[in-house]
Amino acid sequence: MSEQLQLLVTVKAYPALSRKHGEVVCVAGVRTDTERPEWVRLFPVPFRDLPFDQRFTKYQIITVECRRPSTDRRPESYQPDPDTLVLGETLPAGGTWPERRALIEPLTVESMCWIQAQQKVDGTSLGVFRPAEVLDFEMEPEPEDWDPGKLGIASQPSLFFPGKKGLQKIPYRFRYVYRCSESDCGTHSQSIVDWELAQSFLSWGHRYSRPVLLERIREKWLGDLCGPDKDTMFYVGNQHQHPESFLVLGVFYPKHGIKEAQPPGYAAGPPT
Ligand SMILES: [Zn+2]
Repeated sequence: MSEQLQLLVTVKAYPALSRKHGEVVCVAGVRTDTERPEWVRLFPVPFRDLPFDQRFTKYQIITVECRRPSTDRRPESYQPDPDTLVLGETLPAGGTWPERRALIEPLTVESMCWIQAQQKVDGTSLGVFRPAEVLDFEMEPEPEDWDPGKLGIASQPSLFFPGKKGLQKIPYRFRYVYRCSESDCGTHSQSIVDWELAQSFLSWGHRYSRPVLLERIREKWLGDLCGPDKDTMFYVGNQHQHPESFLVLGVFYPKHGIKEAQPPGYAAGPPT
């Protein structure tokens, strides 16, 4: 039985190759058609096979018919029917991201350690929280060979894009190392699978040598997104086959709220 879901897309992972579905993307977001915001995961989304005018962005509202997947038992998971996709408005960023925050803040939980504990209780597999201290951004080379045929994945004919470029393997694994706000947190080290990071790697790769590229990526993802002027939160989700293993799916990085402006003349003291 299918049902219609409306959601704000908050997370889009870099495409992965699956034996069963070919090239697919995992998308997650917040439902906007329920009394309170709730998490939802859409999988598989054949994103690069969607017509261009159907390729939604992060923080866009979408409507799609979905059904519960037969094998994935995670409570937030749905299998979308891409033919029913309808795109809506995109919520702007604008400094402190007020419109986005209105939907994200109610879902914010205390810590990564809390999410891991909750996963064991009720299968929670998506979450968002503020890391207490981001300690490092690690970049580790991965083998560049990438042969879908060898992996047993049939090449996928694309209806709209018969000449579609093959998926490029990102030859690095990027990780955040951080402490969450749990007092006895033993630190977390989690891979980042955000498409935005892969996109930076691919597009900046044309401009910079490899060492400079890596330095730029580190500057952005550690220095900027986790900088002191940002109210940084991590979106995390687990893997279907490894429910205890969580990944960073994306980063919410608005500026901190601006303190209320003081009334004019306040700093100068009362008029005499
Ligand atoms: Zn922790």
